[in-house]
Amino acid sequence: MAAVLSVALVLATFSGQSASRDFETALAQRTLMLPDHPLASFSAADDLAFQPARWEPVVVQKGQTLSGIFKQLGFSAGTLQKIITLDKNARKLARIYPGASLFLRRGSDNRLAALKYPLSETVDLLVEKTDGSWRSQLITHPLEVQLEKASGVIESNLFAAGKAAGLSDNMVMKLANIFGWDIDFVLDIRAGDRFSVIYEKIYKDGEFLRDGRILAASFTNQGETFRSVYYDPDGDPVTDDGDYYTPEGRSMKKAFLRAPLNFSYISSNFNPRRFHPILKRVRPHNGIDYRAPRGTPVYAAGDGVVIRSAYNKYNGNHVFIQHPNGIVTKYLHFTKRKVRKGQRVKQGQVIGTVGSTGLASGPHLHYEFVVNGVHRNPRTVKLPKAKPLPKARLADFQRFAAPLLAELQRLDENSQQLARQ
Ligand SMILES: [Zn+2]
Repeated sequence: MAAVLSVALVLATFSGQSASRDFETALAQRTLMLPDHPLASFSAADDLAFQPARWEPVVVQKGQTLSGIFKQLGFSAGTLQKIITLDKNARKLARIYPGASLFLRRGSDNRLAALKYPLSETVDLLVEKTDGSWRSQLITHPLEVQLEKASGVIESNLFAAGKAAGLSDNMVMKLANIFGWDIDFVLDIRAGDRFSVIYEKIYKDGEFLRDGRILAASFTNQGETFRSVYYDPDGDPVTDDGDYYTPEGRSMKKAFLRAPLNFSYISSNFNPRRFHPILKRVRPHNGIDYRAPRGTPVYAAGDGVVIRSAYNKYNGNHVFIQHPNGIVTKYLHFTKRKVRKGQRVKQGQVIGTVGSTGLASGPHLHYEFVVNGVHRNPRTVKLPKAKPLPKARLADFQRFAAPLLAELQRLDENSQQLARQ
């Protein structure tokens, strides 16, 4: 009953119906225009120089300098001097760092003939000896974006379902981060929950380089479906400072995260069919216990000021944060506290790590959510909705989001059928 579906899809296959054409147009406008590098210059000769078999890779080790590397490989100090004084770009070679990669090519005389150094994901510095003199140039490798769709149904845990759907762990984290204000990914995930994702895969020189952004996603948790679309209000793909919005155009971001800790430390070894941490809850109880491995990072649930960061024999290492509107959040039993009293903290900032200091039988985070002195359930407390996009933007957002949401709907229907099987 591997209820998982994964469809690879090249952008071109979207053409056909009118909705799909809109989708294609929208994406072409918004996501496929990657920054141009005006310094790029291509020639047939450059391409020949880039035959990979002729390049020797060198990874810079700790404590290694370029002159050390040259010495080791038998290249002269004079050559190095000529190269790094060529121009501004070549001078960057003087500041190579451990872990960086260089590629070197020898001539028939076994001396250095060319050197290649990646300055960024898309730009390589090429220094080459032609007609007896060294010259440098920048070579650009444009990135290519393809869209991919995936959906899955959770049987054991989210990471396993993501993997079965062809998603990397990093993509699963991105997916969870989009819905982290609505869903508690530590305690509320159940078998039968499902998700759909439309996301980018980025290729360089025809080879897969990395995953890009999630453009749209849905998550159905215990029968409730959340949907989200990535949208950049200024529409500028170079700055890429967009955000995730609900279909109504409200930001997904809210004042408080549902679960104030990094769920990836927990969920990968958690099977909702066999066992659920909530069953192990200690009562009577004013808060929620998140059983988690020692050292799991704990986040500030919302922006605020640390009003207490201390140790006592009951709470162990504990931190209290004061938020706007009379709300205080409390975090107990840390191994380590990472903030001081009086410090301002941002939502998602690490304030400590899970431990078992104080009165605790095993490593867990005890979390309390207090509104005007009254304990509330942080997982069900109603939080104010974010404001929608301004009217002028809203129309643009809806035009952009409509084809993505339609595609998401189709994926959802597929995953729903699979969930029933
Ligand atoms: Zn507790």
